[in-house]
Amino acid sequence: MHIHEYQAKGLFRQFNIKTPEAILINSTSEANKACANLGGNIWVVKAQVHAGGRGKGGGVILCRSVEEVEAACNQLFGTRLITPQTDAKGLPINQLLIEGGQSIERELYLGLLVDRQTQKITILASTEGGMDIEKVASETPDKIIKFGVDPLGVLNIDDCASIASKLGLVDSLKDQFVTTLLGLYEIFTSKDVSLIEINPLITTIDNNLLALDGKIDFDDNALYRHEDIVELRDISQEDEKENEASEHQLNYISLDGTIGCMVNGAGLAMATMDLIEHHGGSPANFLDVGGGTTADRVAKAFELIQTQKNVVGILVNIFGGIVRCDLIAEGILRAIEKVGLNLPIVVRLEGTNATAGLKLLDDSNADIHTEADLTQAAIKIVALSKEVSV
Ligand code: ADP
Ligand code: MG
Repeated sequence: MHIHEYQAKGLFRQFNIKTPEAILINSTSEANKACANLGGNIWVVKAQVHAGGRGKGGGVILCRSVEEVEAACNQLFGTRLITPQTDAKGLPINQLLIEGGQSIERELYLGLLVDRQTQKITILASTEGGMDIEKVASETPDKIIKFGVDPLGVLNIDDCASIASKLGLVDSLKDQFVTTLLGLYEIFTSKDVSLIEINPLITTIDNNLLALDGKIDFDDNALYRHEDIVELRDISQEDEKENEASEHQLNYISLDGTIGCMVNGAGLAMATMDLIEHHGGSPANFLDVGGGTTADRVAKAFELIQTQKNVVGILVNIFGGIVRCDLIAEGILRAIEKVGLNLPIVVRLEGTNATAGLKLLDDSNADIHTEADLTQAAIKIVALSKEVSV
């Protein structure tokens, strides 16, 4: 689960990490008062969306008067922000953070993540923080300091201080850095975080160390033990179809392609997507209907795929192990009855009760192409989809 910058900064403050004064607003009418309460004469208006790269997408605007702040708010509220990290549709801007403009001396990077290879919590730090950190990581990886911490051990102060030295921080900032890193580590471990990041972590000309931005991703599997975190969820930032799918225990991820896929088992779903690509098509989604699926769940999955705008054809690939293919066929027919069928569909059923399932489909009035072989099924749906697209 992702959260907004203002929420991440709220957690930072609870764990003694310093952030600039800022006020969240829901409409332009609140801007004037926010500026007055913050004081100063430079403010930054920041779009609250679940994506980074906002600066590059025009979602972080520096303003030198209240009028400029109001103009920035009017420009952003109610629109969608497209950044290098969003898709072409972007994400809705419903809230803005008005923050005091800071006199930045240096922009550092500090983050923690789980490194599966070393099985450690890895601290990443760099003197080259800011909007181009991805470029630094790919072109000059030696500028990223890495330090692994055994998750069963502790992060000790000397190690934090040594990272501070490597970042070239003067003594007065070292203590602030140690507090910041210990705070991040505490959030990471106590809240079951998978990624936490401050970019940029700035030093100011009056010798302060401040988290100017904040990103936290939580491990969904552990959310059941963090009610306070679940409350921070903002579903306006999430994919509607993915949410609807998860309510029905379906593993669904929207993609940009045109062929909707319904498969049982994550591995088989990946292989099916690869096969579609291999034969010249592109998948519109990843969908694993699960092992012990029911006819109802299949019907729901089918409805989800068919109502996804970019879909021009559907490939169903079921390997019946625990699940029975005749139940899958029933689900498909039920869904067609309910939502109609206006797209070409190829169904490949194999395994338990496959013959009965295929017969049900063949005997129905619905215009369904059945295939016993997966490669043939993929070739068929790619060809049928191309006819539709032309
Ligand atoms: P994103 O990473 O999504 O682009 P950031 O919050 O990191 O958004 O902002 C982008 C850049 O804007 C920062 O690297 C910093 O240079 C500048 N910036 C952000 N907030 C402030 C602020 N309060 N004062 C001055 N500059 C800021
Ligand atoms: Mg940033």
